[in-house]
Amino acid sequence: MVPVMHKITSMSLGFSMFSFINASTSHDQATKADSRSKKAQKTNESTAAAESSQSVRNRRLLNAKSHTLKNGLQVIVVEDRAIPRVSVGVLYKVGSCDDPENLFGLSHMTEHMFFHGSVKYPQIDATIGKLGGTLNACTSSDCTAYITDVPATALEVIFRIEANRMGNFNLRKTKIFGSEKKAVHEERLMVIENQPDGVALEYIRMAISPQHPYGREVIGFPHNIMNYSADAVMEHYRKWYAPNNAVLIVVGDVNAADVFKKAEAHFGNIKSRDVPKRVRVANASSDIHQKLTFYSSNVASNKVDLVYNAPHHSTHSMKEIRAMKILLEVLFGGVVYEFCHRFLQKNELVADFCVCHYTTLDPAPFYVCVSLRDGVTCEKFLKEYFKRIKELAKRGVSEEDFRRAKQSYLTSATYQARDGHSRIRMRIVECLGAGGTLDQIENAIVDIESVTIEDVNNMLRQFINKKPFAIIKTVVKPSEAPNET
Ligand SMILES: [Zn+2]
Repeated sequence: MVPVMHKITSMSLGFSMFSFINASTSHDQATKADSRSKKAQKTNESTAAAESSQSVRNRRLLNAKSHTLKNGLQVIVVEDRAIPRVSVGVLYKVGSCDDPENLFGLSHMTEHMFFHGSVKYPQIDATIGKLGGTLNACTSSDCTAYITDVPATALEVIFRIEANRMGNFNLRKTKIFGSEKKAVHEERLMVIENQPDGVALEYIRMAISPQHPYGREVIGFPHNIMNYSADAVMEHYRKWYAPNNAVLIVVGDVNAADVFKKAEAHFGNIKSRDVPKRVRVANASSDIHQKLTFYSSNVASNKVDLVYNAPHHSTHSMKEIRAMKILLEVLFGGVVYEFCHRFLQKNELVADFCVCHYTTLDPAPFYVCVSLRDGVTCEKFLKEYFKRIKELAKRGVSEEDFRRAKQSYLTSATYQARDGHSRIRMRIVECLGAGGTLDQIENAIVDIESVTIEDVNNMLRQFINKKPFAIIKTVVKPSEAPNET
């Protein structure tokens, strides 16, 4: 992106110099000069128009180019020639929320098997490793993505591999289904059962979203994993892995027109298919206020999780969502803010805290997770916390905190988000995988800059100065407490 911007700036400067020379023409050539001057004025106007349209383009975060093939595959390209590499993502719009009953986690198992089901490239990792590249994949509640970072010269090899597994995935010759199933089971032990709070967190998620599939872990339950079969994975693939349900993302040292041509050549003959409508049940009512208490011998000090409803792109504007992000920065962003500094960190109540706020396809709450200082009770913290929130809602966020938080969020959400091929690719995967649009990413700078302090205070009053959707207390289990409590 930087060299492209630089080229256009130089060109504009050249036109300006040309106009200046014409304006200095001697007196006896006045008429000619006048006509030239008019031409120069026109040139200046068109230069100004070009600069203005360039400035609009520069206000767009990525200047991505998008093209959809006839089979429905959307191809997104971001040209960034900083280094001679390319980052490729293939996003499928299917995630753990779309898993069939009794086979929860099947999207994740399919992701594992997708590395072994290409007849032409049975060892994808070795092929990409030899090219000097890396590959990975991830499954979320809403999407599954396959990602590769390779030298730019290897782009077509990646297209061959991705097109081959998108169009010809087949598990018939694969003998490793059993061992992958075992690997997934071990992964579950590692991320849930063997974590100090793993099982408790799984229960909490279920309690928070009892009806919606966001209440389940992406990886599924042990009895689900035992039931996976190669046929079920193939069925899942046939149902969801269609080109018209996928997005191909290419970021790096490439030319967009050339990428579109290559994408057509490799993916263009994969037939589109009917993809099921994604049916989701409504989330639990936001009027319910839950209070849950867990007793755990695995935690060193008491903890409080506050679960709040959040603005969502289906019900709120991006400006409101950006305002909420700025508010969270003020409340929980770091030591310089009044709320964090004076209350959360500089007093004797709080040891540590974090906010988990993800972009999701369906509306979902966000979590504020607070670890209390040794001996501080959850009740003492909550009393003080709500008092401070009420005070802040009454007087509003200070101008100084607002300005600082807005700048900090602008930096992390825009400039840092486009710093490096894989970050850009990740940003697109996250947004589109959660039902967002390319325009939402492109307009980030403009949206964030348009947020006012009133917008932020509205979010504070609308969402935070309300009873949380749920309060979860995790209390250190006293040694003398009976086990059955
Ligand atoms: Zn896994």
